[in-house]
Amino acid sequence: MRMPLIAGNWKMNGSLALVEAFGRAFADGALPVNVEVALMVPFPFLEAAGRALGETSVTVGAQTLSDRPSGAFTGEVSAAMLRECGARLVLVGHSERRTLFGEDDAAVLARVKAALAERLTPVLCVGETLEEREAERTEAVVLGQVEAVFDALDESERARLEVAYEPVWAIGTGRTASPEQAQVVHAAIRGCLARYDQALAGGMRLLYGGSMKADNAAELLAQPDIDGGLVGGASLKVDDFLAICQSAG
Ligand code: PEP
Repeated sequence: MRMPLIAGNWKMNGSLALVEAFGRAFADGALPVNVEVALMVPFPFLEAAGRALGETSVTVGAQTLSDRPSGAFTGEVSAAMLRECGARLVLVGHSERRTLFGEDDAAVLARVKAALAERLTPVLCVGETLEEREAERTEAVVLGQVEAVFDALDESERARLEVAYEPVWAIGTGRTASPEQAQVVHAAIRGCLARYDQALAGGMRLLYGGSMKADNAAELLAQPDIDGGLVGGASLKVDDFLAICQSAG
């Protein structure tokens, strides 16, 4: 049985006041006990989020990291720094990193390895563009992104990842994949993982991301291969995010 994971991705949004508001709202046992919850906040809020959410079950994470351990890389943040500031998860390969910051599969793999080396859990994001979907290349693109990372890891490393399927055309657009569309791709990813190891495939949580909201989360999460959500916009409002977490419970 895979415990659902709902992870909020604040992107370059939020404030210290919002961190405090989440801390207050979640402190009183509001979150379901059978759901893991994480918040991926901007770097400067990591420590404050750790303090504000310290009495809750919420895990704090980051949204990207450097592929280098240290050195003359102005503006970059290493995995060790994230860990020291309280992050336990980190998004890798989010489509905004791939498209806006030119991170290709090799860059994504290097960041996964950097995260693993510091015992951070990489949440590997994969997904196709609208053009790729319309050209019926969804599976080839998504499985290619999965294999680019999983091929290069050993058995114990593979088991330490989370995978998020995020169709690029559904991120921040209000256009959600239908539960059936999402399930087809999730099942394909699980099938791909089974080629490495059946136990890996059976245990791996596959999150859906792309305009997940309080009113569509339940039907997405009811799909057999959807084990949680990566939530952007709706993770910036306490009540909306709480409702999504509750629908996973
Ligand atoms: C995301 O940023 O990962 C995401 C899924 O965003 P949204 O929920 O706003 O589509």
